[in-house]
Formats: sequence, C-alpha cells, structure tokens
Amino acid sequence: MAGLCVVLGILPARGEPARQQSEFPVATDMRIEQHGETVGLSLALSEVVPVEAWVQAAPDRVIVELPSTNFQIQPSARKNAGFVSGYRYGLFTTDKARIIIDLSQPATIVKAEARTARGGLGELTIELRKVGRAEFLAEAAKVRPASRAMVAPAPPRPAGETRRTIVIDPGHGGIDPGTVVASIAEKSVVLNFGLALKEQLESSGRYRVVMTRDDDSFVPLADRVRIGQDEKADLFISIHADSLTQAQEVRGATVYTRSERATDAEAAKLAAKENEADAAGGLETSEEVQDVAGILIDLARRETRTFSGVFARNLVDKLGASVRMHKIPLRSARFWVLSAPDVPSVLIELGYMSSPKDAALLTSAEWRGKAVGAVGAAVDEYFARERASVGQAAENRHAP
Ligand code: ZN
Repeated sequence: MAGLCVVLGILPARGEPARQQSEFPVATDMRIEQHGETVGLSLALSEVVPVEAWVQAAPDRVIVELPSTNFQIQPSARKNAGFVSGYRYGLFTTDKARIIIDLSQPATIVKAEARTARGGLGELTIELRKVGRAEFLAEAAKVRPASRAMVAPAPPRPAGETRRTIVIDPGHGGIDPGTVVASIAEKSVVLNFGLALKEQLESSGRYRVVMTRDDDSFVPLADRVRIGQDEKADLFISIHADSLTQAQEVRGATVYTRSERATDAEAAKLAAKENEADAAGGLETSEEVQDVAGILIDLARRETRTFSGVFARNLVDKLGASVRMHKIPLRSARFWVLSAPDVPSVLIELGYMSSPKDAALLTSAEWRGKAVGAVGAAVDEYFARERASVGQAAENRHAP
C-alpha cells in the first residue's frame, strides 16, 4: 500500500461556496483498538467525505486530511493503543481538517477511507500496521499533497489610510491547541483575548487592526510573520498562555521580545516550544529562514528592536498596574514569530495554564477586560510618545 492513500467519497461540486461551521460534517464516536500488529481507528461521520492520509517522519506520525469537520469526540474516548501514543484533531485551514496520529513505533497505512455505514451515515476507518524503520522512512519520503496551510491574503492597506496598523496574532489554532489544561485550550483563550483586544483598539478610531486568525484555524509561523510584514504593521502583538512548569504556584503575565540569546533558561525553553507550532499542525519540520545579513537590514532590525523594547516596557507598566505579573515580567528569547526585521513585535504570555488561579482568570471576562484595557493603554502610550518625539525632532530642526 502506498504511503499516499487517496480514497474519494462524494466530492463537493465545483464552485460550491465554502460551508459555514454549522454545516460541516460532524464526526463522533472515536474508537481505537489494537489487533496484533495493527491498530484501527474509526469515527462516525454525518456524511461520507474525501479522505487523504500519509505518514511523516521525525516526529513520526500519520496525517489524515478531511474537509472541514466539526469534531464532537466523546471526552471518554480512548487516547492510545499499541504503537499509537495519541492523536489530535481540528481545523487545519478554513476548508480542511486533520487528524494527526502520533506513533511510538514506525507504522504504515493499510487503509484510510470513508464509506457509507448503516443508516446512510458515513464511517471513517484507518488501519495502521507496524513496520520496520527502513520501510517507514521509504513511505515517508514518497510524494504527498502539499502539506502547506494557505492563508487567504488580507485586503491591501487602503490608499489614504492614516490609522496605525496593528497586527494581533492569537497563538496556535485549529489542529494545534497549544497548552491544554483541564480541557481549556490555549488556542481558545488567546483567540478570545485577541478578538476583545481588536474591538478595544478599533473602538478608539485610531487603529486599523488585522488578525492573523479570527477563527479556529491553523496558521503557520512563517505566514504569521509575513502578515505583519505585508500589512506594514506598526506593531505586531502575539498572544499566548502556555505553561512549562507543573508548579501550580508559578503565575502571572510575562512580556517577551526577540533576542538571539535568551535572558534565561525558561525563556529559551518557551521559545523552543512555540517554534514547534508548525510541527504540531503536521507541517514538515521547517527551519526558520536565516536572518538576512546586510548593513541596511541590520540598521532596520536594530531600530525595530528598540521600538519593540519600548513597547514591551509600556506593556509591563500598564499590565503590571492592573493584573498580576510574573516575578520576571520582561524577558526575551529567539521566538520565530517575532522575527520580522521591520515590524516591532512582542509576545504576551497572559499567564500560566498550569496555575489553577491563572487558569480561572484567563477564562474570566472581568480579568480579560482589565488586561485588554491595559494592553490598549500601552499601545496608546507607545504612539503618543512616538508622536511627541517626532514633534520634538521637528521643533529642533526649526530651532535657529
Ligand atoms: Zn503558546
């Protein structure tokens, strides 16, 4: 059986408009079972859909791609069996969903298909068989569909636009839930925060806000960076809420900027984890593009980092006045998503999902209101200072 296994069900008619989430096929009743050398997974579907599946090495997993699907998997579903150490599912792009199956030992795809089951509903069946390392690697090397998530280009910056452009980047999304603690997913916490921040900033009339995602879809890191650059953003604000520690007493918000050398080991570890987001979505492991060298780029980068630092300090001031901060609230590390040389960029970790107290705050509307207000105030101060310093420079020029 080929590594690329394409089984077609009923294809949607060409030119059919994109479906709304409420119209997505619904997947329920996940089952996973081991029989000797094989592991079978099955899902009940509200209709038969086209399915593609292939294997990927390092990390070793099976990617199953379907049209957008509304996953309503029972929480009690078994999570592993035999060489399958786990799986996750979610939207990958606006019109595709994925199931990613993690392998603890090499395996190949015997079957991946959706067919009509009893009662006219659909059933998705995936059958995997244990193989040797060499066979697995040969399968993984075969041609497969471009596993690249595409982001619809944002409308161009309107001519004559005088408002400042701010790009808000809610971390993770779709197939990549980020940190999950007690069934709260980071991806939803940060999306809610991002949408509330957009509303707050837009209500002032001074800012044009672009979101890297405004729904539960997966956006590769490189695309997030590119959106900031394409929009010629004046600020790029990435929103996260991870936890690296099991220590429940570690709490508070932290503001990060980009630097080649991390300020501390925890910051380095966090950046490494965030830089893995593409792998969580089933993209080929991608290396960050090497920083472009050159005197002009270096100058731009240095200036951008200065601006990022100014904004980060404003954030620590304003956030610190209204919400609890981590004991070291301003740190830096090599975050890929903050790598645009021409866009001042910061990453806010809203709190630690591992802390029950932080987790309760992160999902509270009252806390969110306070934190969003503080970020809005930091943005206002950043641009007010910039205007003041430009005004000062102009005055100096006109001085006799
Ligand atoms: Zn995160």
